[in-house]
Amino acid sequence: MIEITNVRKSFGDLEVLKGINLKVNKGEEVSMIGGSGSGKSTMLMCVNGLEHIQSGSIRIDGIEVHDKSTDLNKLRRKIGIVFQQWNAFPHLTVLENVMLAPRKVLGKSKKEAEAIAVEQLKHVGLGEKLTVFPSRLSGGQQQRMAIARALAMSPEYMLFDEVTSALDPQLVGEVLDTMRMLSKEGMTMIVVTHEMRFAREVSDRVAFFREGLIHEIGSPEQIFEHPEKRETAAFLKSAN
Ligand code: ATP
Ligand code: MG
Repeated sequence: MIEITNVRKSFGDLEVLKGINLKVNKGEEVSMIGGSGSGKSTMLMCVNGLEHIQSGSIRIDGIEVHDKSTDLNKLRRKIGIVFQQWNAFPHLTVLENVMLAPRKVLGKSKKEAEAIAVEQLKHVGLGEKLTVFPSRLSGGQQQRMAIARALAMSPEYMLFDEVTSALDPQLVGEVLDTMRMLSKEGMTMIVVTHEMRFAREVSDRVAFFREGLIHEIGSPEQIFEHPEKRETAAFLKSAN
């Protein structure tokens, strides 16, 4: 479980998270939606300890991310993260790129790492692309490779930050389908997205961020059909 309690985060004088509370249970998919600058990406960065917090707490399976005594590298192995863009190593094949972390971070043998990478690349539908170089993949295939790379570490949690935003519209679907599959398989996921259809169809809960707070959170039905807050309704209207 991910437990975010009263998290505040500032960059200099600018407070961008103003007391965020959220629990994400095992197997749950929570989508984060909201306007630009509302703090969604910052929240994800704080969850895996890439950014410090000013106060509050973030616990992952009971372990405090922002405790000095926490072994962050160990904790991060539980958490896969996929961003808008991931720069693969251009001189390595798709397979070699995905093998890298299991070899270097988990200390797997070449053979083991290869087996893991092949399995995950097949899982995301890239079984035919093992020996190509990343530059030969479409944008959608590159994002699926990034997902396979994260999955190769056997994470218990996956964080996604606008993974389809840089894609041509016709490539968005294949990446969302891969994420939908992961969620169905029971992966615990936090997904920052502008894809309202995805948020509506795949999420267990949707969190609407506004000015550094979760302004409203609820089932997709609540958020999309019967938002309680005026600002939620206004955002959704503008997002469509
Ligand atoms: P978007 O939908 O545009 O991606 P977001 O909800 O992800 O927006 P954040 O990237 O979390 O928003 O940014 C929240 C606020 O924090 C913004 O005002 C942004 O300018 C600021 N901010 C983010 N990162 C930094 C940083 N490294 N240094 C200073 N300010 C930052
Ligand atoms: Mg962002």
